[in-house]
Amino acid sequence: MPPLDPDLLAVAEATKGFLPADEAAALHEAGLAAPPGTWLEVGTYCGRSTVHLGAAARARGSRLVTLDHHRGSEENQPGWEWHDTSLVDAHTGRLETLPSLRRTLWDAALDDVVSVVVGTTQQVAGWWTTPLTLLFLDGNHTEQVAQHDYAAFAPHVVAGGTLLIHDVFERPEDGGRPPWNVFCRARDSGEFEPVGQQGSLRWLRRV
Ligand code: MG
Repeated sequence: MPPLDPDLLAVAEATKGFLPADEAAALHEAGLAAPPGTWLEVGTYCGRSTVHLGAAARARGSRLVTLDHHRGSEENQPGWEWHDTSLVDAHTGRLETLPSLRRTLWDAALDDVVSVVVGTTQQVAGWWTTPLTLLFLDGNHTEQVAQHDYAAFAPHVVAGGTLLIHDVFERPEDGGRPPWNVFCRARDSGEFEPVGQQGSLRWLRRV
């Protein structure tokens, strides 16, 4: 599999985000191995992972939809560990990552491959009907929302399609439980078989 184009890698590296280089490379590679079609990323933030997946989507002739309400998860809010004051919108006083994403996609020349959907996963789940050949779950990490996002979008993944889950930590001392619980739910459902793992990124294939 060819690695990400150096110019695009530079864009991704300059983008704020929580995806380490080794996991980003694995995400790109998993995208290159996924069937062409419509891909959905849940949890965009400023678009670092979107560059890696978007570049793979272009190479595969796929289209990537990236979904986020763009006002940050709990851990991004004021007073929390992952709060970034430079991302606060003076008008709302809330975190606002959409302008950063738009600049990222511009710099990566991926506007024609990536469709940006702004909304909560609960909103979008209400009308989403498109079959998916790749689903990347990296949204809100509360148990309730993580389970919701899996239940809402995993059924749209077609046979042979790829399911990726970020921040999966088997040991509780390494990280939060919800993504691990979602991974176990997918694996134990009999509908997905684990294919690969890099750091906290896991990917499975729909049987
Ligand atoms: Mg993540």
